[in-house]
Amino acid sequence: MKKRHFLKLSSALMTATLFSPITGWTNVEKLKNWAGNLTYSTDKLDEVKSLMQVQEVVKKYPKMKVLGTRHCFNKIADTADQFVTLVGIRDDISIDPSGKTVTVNSGIKYGQISPYLHEKGFALHNLASLPHISVAGACATATHGSGEKNGNLSTAVSAMELVTASGDIVKLSREKDGEKFKAAVVNLGALGIVTKVTLDIQPTFLMDQHVYENLPLSQLKDHFDEIEASGYSVSLFTNWQSQNITEVWLKRKAGDLTSKKPEQEWFGAKLATRNLHPIPELSAENCTEQMGVPGPWYERMPHFKMGFTPSSGVELQSEYFVPRQNAVEAIMAVSRLGAQVGTHLLTSEIRTIAADDLWMSPCYKQDCVTIHFTWKQDWPAVSKLLPVIEKELAPFHAKPHWGKLFTTAPAQLEKLFPKLPEFRKVAKEYDPKGKFRNDFLNTNLFGGI
Ligand SMILES: Cc1cc2nc3c(=O)[nH]c(=O)nc-3n(C[C@H](O)[C@H](O)[C@H](O)COP(=O)(O)OP(=O)(O)OC[C@H]3O[C@@H](n4cnc5c(N)ncnc54)[C@H](O)[C@@H]3O)c2cc1C
Repeated sequence: MKKRHFLKLSSALMTATLFSPITGWTNVEKLKNWAGNLTYSTDKLDEVKSLMQVQEVVKKYPKMKVLGTRHCFNKIADTADQFVTLVGIRDDISIDPSGKTVTVNSGIKYGQISPYLHEKGFALHNLASLPHISVAGACATATHGSGEKNGNLSTAVSAMELVTASGDIVKLSREKDGEKFKAAVVNLGALGIVTKVTLDIQPTFLMDQHVYENLPLSQLKDHFDEIEASGYSVSLFTNWQSQNITEVWLKRKAGDLTSKKPEQEWFGAKLATRNLHPIPELSAENCTEQMGVPGPWYERMPHFKMGFTPSSGVELQSEYFVPRQNAVEAIMAVSRLGAQVGTHLLTSEIRTIAADDLWMSPCYKQDCVTIHFTWKQDWPAVSKLLPVIEKELAPFHAKPHWGKLFTTAPAQLEKLFPKLPEFRKVAKEYDPKGKFRNDFLNTNLFGGI
């Protein structure tokens, strides 16, 4: 029998009472997403505490959605009918050291699992810019970090348990379930309620991060591959208002860095002499440690610290994935829009992601570069700019991030996601009457079909 480490997190982490309806996220405010740009279409929220209760609510309600940590900017999580939250059952972390996996209840946040894994000698392969998001919610939308050899976060999923529309429990694994598993990992919340997720782990490691300021775009254009290969994870930030990338965040694994001291000047950029925030006007207090100070992987891979507000807080986000071979041309195309987009931006980020084989992942069979926009919270202005950006990036086959704001037409999504017709079939098999569908899914995935 395999030896397992098992953790029950303290009850202080629980916000749950018993399986019960909760009106609103708090008693006074309407139920909103994290950024506050979206008021959900209902305040009806049930909190469940066990797998059996998940099955009960699924049987009880004809239409429903699960709420994760509410970090999506669009209506993918929305419903006018009934929400369910799994925060009350998020307390188990079970490590299988010989299988190199960890199994968690799906509502848990990366920021809760990571320190525990590190303490036990393990690490995840990558994290997003923030640790505040739930595992199921992040994997549902193919959330990613950076690093040209690193797949998005859902590529670490090796098995999952979900409750389908009938209330049945389905277990799927990478090892046994082939294409069905590849369909289910990036599920857009359309297949059922994910209750457990098993993730690949590896021996823990230390990292450091250095920031370079003012990398000339001309250098990026000529040395894109070298720059992206310079770290385990590389992020480029700019507001497109100058001919420079304002900040380059280089995150290196301990083994890669001890031999190499960072150069003061690198591709024309200067090594920063203090911690920085990706939005240069903001204090770096909320950001993970920089200046080459080594630390555990989970305190270097995200840009933002658990327990602090990530990013700006009052913002909107959009992001587009372009095939890696189109990266430089796509970046140059966006830079030509600089004057138009710049004044509406807090910052913009360029990252790389390795190809995968998950059907609804934007990196399906395709190494990608992402161009991300953190906007000032002005939807009338942003809604006019997104079609402009999408038009400019269309020749490069840009796919939108499922959890961020986009205006890409459903017919275009159909072309960009080759497995979409097959995904629809799997969704109809697990959810024949559309219990887990909402306006977002009906419009973008099931439109007219
Ligand atoms: C400040 C900030 C920084 C971000 N940084 C990044 C980044 O670095 N990289 C990146 O790719 N994205 C990033 N995002 C986007 C974010 O990672 C995604 O929106 C992610 O999906 C959020 O997860 P969540 O749990 O909050 O999902 P929610 O918004 O709560 O839900 C998302 C979807 O998942 C479904 N879902 C949630 N739990 C379950 C479940 N148990 N079973 C079935 N379906 C479920 C919901 O129904 C919904 O359809 C960022 C967002 C913010 C606000």
